[in-house]
Amino acid sequence: MTERLYYDDSRTTEFRATIVERTRAGDRPAVVLDRTYFYPTGGGQPHDTGVIGGVEVVDVQTREDGEVLHVLASDPPGEDEVECRIDAGRRFDFMQQHTGQHILTQAFVQVADAHTIAFHLSEDTVTIDLDRADIPPRVLDEVEDLVNRVITEDRPVTPRLVVPENASGVRVRRIPGQLHTEGLRVVEVEGFDTTACGGTHVSRTGEIGIIKIIKVENHREGSRVEFKCGGRALRDYRQKHAILDRLSNELTVGYWEVGEAVDRLRAELKAAQRDLRAATRQLAEFEGERLLAQAPTREGVRVVRQVFEGRDPGDVRTLVSRLAESDRVVVLAGIPGEKAQLILARSADLPTNLNGPLQAAFAVLGGGRGGGRPDFCQGGGVQADAMQVAAALDAAEQAIFESAS
Ligand SMILES: [Zn+2]
Repeated sequence: MTERLYYDDSRTTEFRATIVERTRAGDRPAVVLDRTYFYPTGGGQPHDTGVIGGVEVVDVQTREDGEVLHVLASDPPGEDEVECRIDAGRRFDFMQQHTGQHILTQAFVQVADAHTIAFHLSEDTVTIDLDRADIPPRVLDEVEDLVNRVITEDRPVTPRLVVPENASGVRVRRIPGQLHTEGLRVVEVEGFDTTACGGTHVSRTGEIGIIKIIKVENHREGSRVEFKCGGRALRDYRQKHAILDRLSNELTVGYWEVGEAVDRLRAELKAAQRDLRAATRQLAEFEGERLLAQAPTREGVRVVRQVFEGRDPGDVRTLVSRLAESDRVVVLAGIPGEKAQLILARSADLPTNLNGPLQAAFAVLGGGRGGGRPDFCQGGGVQADAMQVAAALDAAEQAIFESAS
């Protein structure tokens, strides 16, 4: 069986080993070594990467029989005695996050009586799931204070092997599903926490640097807590500081006033939108009066015929409806464009059904779909410029007065 050296030594990332088996994992070549520091995916922690005999290691798995399978990007080296190197940056990051998780988990027990039921560590996020929901922000601050105090105290972190008979004497939070050793692997943060765990850890809490809780949300019956340790926390702070710095410069306020400045901007925007709506309504009234005053009369009916270029169809529709509230009036409106729109309306005191004239207008445009009530209909959808729309409205007007006479 592969000797798993990372259990007692998380530091070593360069070593020599012997290939004892050449095999495959799916469609990739893989090797088994007599001894390895490579951590295989498990216990919530992702596998290491690196090189074996110059060949890239892309995955490390525990095979069903308990052997550690090093999955390679290409054919394994020819020789059996190989130099191995683990990506130390990736490994140390996992060590910081993983050890941080042990401390955070214990802190939640002590401060909030909340117990960790799941742990997930990936290249970009670390989360624990707790069995308690609705943890107030004040309590989260207390937890953060406690974990960072334990970091500052620089306590030793020690892996130990406990024989099963003695395991009852150890306060163990969680028993891993699968044991690859003759006893129970426990990791002790001196005087603070003892957890059964076969992962890789830093050797003193000070190496974690800092732990920051990033997000807490209710999840199933409990909560999911996202946090960042060490280098990840620093990068997160750097990124957020840059964002806040930019916002505070753009809003010309101190960073602590950014929230209020955004509230103020939103209130101003809301007021401006309200004023704009009122002004638009007023403008439409004036426009309507002007159009009515200028409208020629035909057979005792005022005919408002207008091409509205670049106008919002909703606004035009509102204007047309308002104009049609007058007595003895016909309103023929068009909006040119990729999908030109025509809107026809008449006052209630006239008999004409406008669906026919709308079809006459479509005939001029060479297409179009639509219809509506006898006194209000609309449609379009084909491309037409202002001239074509004007010609279409002209055809609609002819149709209205021919049918009336
Ligand atoms: Zn652990």
